[in-house]
Amino acid sequence: MKHALLLLTAASLASNLHAAGGFYGDAPDATHPWAIHDMNRPQPPRVEPGTFSSQDKPGTPPSDAIVLFSGRPEEIEKWQSDKPTGEPTKWEVKDGALQCVPGSGYIRTREEFADCQLHIEWAAPSKVEGDSQGRGNSGVFLMGQVEVQVLDNYNNPTYADGFASSIYGINPPMANALRAPGEWQVYDIVFRRPIFKDGQELDPGYITVFVNGVCVQDHTRLEGGGGHMKRSTPRPFPEKGPLKLQDHGNPVRYRNIWYRPLPKRAIEGGDTSLMSEQATAAKRAGIAKELRSDAARLEGDARMYRLLESLCYADDAQARAEGEKLAASFAQAVQATPADKLESRKNEVLQFQKAMGYLAKFKLLPADFVPKQQMDALVKQQGWDKKK
Ligand code: MG
Repeated sequence: MKHALLLLTAASLASNLHAAGGFYGDAPDATHPWAIHDMNRPQPPRVEPGTFSSQDKPGTPPSDAIVLFSGRPEEIEKWQSDKPTGEPTKWEVKDGALQCVPGSGYIRTREEFADCQLHIEWAAPSKVEGDSQGRGNSGVFLMGQVEVQVLDNYNNPTYADGFASSIYGINPPMANALRAPGEWQVYDIVFRRPIFKDGQELDPGYITVFVNGVCVQDHTRLEGGGGHMKRSTPRPFPEKGPLKLQDHGNPVRYRNIWYRPLPKRAIEGGDTSLMSEQATAAKRAGIAKELRSDAARLEGDARMYRLLESLCYADDAQARAEGEKLAASFAQAVQATPADKLESRKNEVLQFQKAMGYLAKFKLLPADFVPKQQMDALVKQQGWDKKK
């Protein structure tokens, strides 16, 4: 059964469940375009997960990741020196790792992006040299703007807001989850850029970081992105930017670098969190329109239910009139059913009653809607409302 279910497409699954009836969880409201447990809400897109890394072997990325470096020498082409001219970088690919050549300067990706899940692994030199900010220093710069510090802090104190996995100059990590120098460290980062509109900050931007699977930054506010010595203040970021890796004079190595773009937040027109009333109304109108065009290819009860369901998202005189007319026909047909055949219609009547009850509860149909009253009376008369 489980396997059979997996073979169903999302669309047929949704349509099968719809056949069993919507009208279930709390209806859409001013800031939620979908009902609770709404089968019209899109299914999450399928992503084949990757594998985790070991010290000996980097893992594989999930199927929808954009790979920036997987160990192949030719991938150096995805990077360039962080100079205005963007010339080829002098960093080297050695033994499947992208290695900083001290003195050659930062590098940046040719690709530019913004909100993302970023996976990146790094290793400080196994030969320990220097101390504080001078030991195994590099840095992962999201959009080229915000440094998640890379530093050998395994046994090396430094200022806390410059610690490995600090948001440099903003916030120390909540823990030191580093492995020894020379070993691979894994950063998993969730990054949301600040959003401004007409000079107003709509969202300050946030960053979450896991080091070797340990959460060390929990939705840390960006406060302008941080930096060296100066306190940064909130500011707009560009639409997108490159990922940069820092040359801080130490031959730090990187491997297994990939990212997944994240969907837009509600504040920029997405539907991933609490939406504005205006955006919700637009989304609801879109869902209602889809349901009505779906209804147009359906017949009988299925058409009635789809039309009535569309009223949960947005009212429409024509859909309402036809839905109500079909509901009235349904009730009339049931009433015309000979007494000895009524029992065979019990389930469809109860389904109808459930839908009518739902629509009345959320004031989408009047409580005294005649077909509803007729079927309520019939259910009572037949004793179908009694629990056995
Ligand atoms: Mg650094």
